[in-house]
Amino acid sequence: MGSAKIAEGKTKIVRPYREGYALLEFKDDITAGDGARHDVLPGKGVLNAQTSAYLFRVLEGKGISTHYVGMYDERTMIVKYLKMIPVEVVLRNIATGSVVKRLPINEGERFDPPIIEFFLKDDSRHDPMLNYHHMEHLKLMTRKEAERVEEIMYGVNDALFPLLKSKGLILYDFKLEFGRLGDELVVGDEITLDSMRVREEGTGRILDKDLYRKGADLETVRKAYEEFYRRLTS
Ligand code: 5GP
Repeated sequence: MGSAKIAEGKTKIVRPYREGYALLEFKDDITAGDGARHDVLPGKGVLNAQTSAYLFRVLEGKGISTHYVGMYDERTMIVKYLKMIPVEVVLRNIATGSVVKRLPINEGERFDPPIIEFFLKDDSRHDPMLNYHHMEHLKLMTRKEAERVEEIMYGVNDALFPLLKSKGLILYDFKLEFGRLGDELVVGDEITLDSMRVREEGTGRILDKDLYRKGADLETVRKAYEEFYRRLTS
């Protein structure tokens, strides 16, 4: 597709579409460390577009509003045009990643209930953590909106955790981004192995982008993404 870009990030391109809609193209790029490591992984764009579309359809089926409308081509989604909020919202079922580095929490500890964290989307500041006060001051979200976002995060977890469990997979954590459509808060961006951690039940085998973050070769990463999509949709 050669049409104009509204925005281009590390892994996706937003293009104009009909009034009120946009096209979201998933690139084959894979990055880690706020863009410090970067590779091109042929096939990843299609896999991530399909994975994300599948999971958005699951959420829509549970009554959770997402920006997903349909597919334009195999790597491009038609989405509702949202006013995006530059905040990454993370829900954690099991401790790993940044939370075990920041806090005296052990790898593998179970959060019951799951915990939710907010981060400013700002690579130059390494995505600093935010609380309700920071978000109100920075005019990102009111406290009421943040509470609504938390409610939606729990709803998403209630939909996805059992779904993955039924495939022999454990959802450790995931990150979502939200946008506004009028007064409504809507799940935007993507839900893929770039933005969630999924481990095989029993073996603990990693299937998500942590493989890449930890230096695995690209073919191992591609195979894991492919296996996840196959298991998810089987
Ligand atoms: P952590 O805070 O432990 O690094 O990440 C928590 C969860 O959010 C993980 O599932 C991780 O993949 C996701 N996540 C955190 N930051 C980013 C980011 O900048 N981009 C993407 N795609 N996912 C992120």
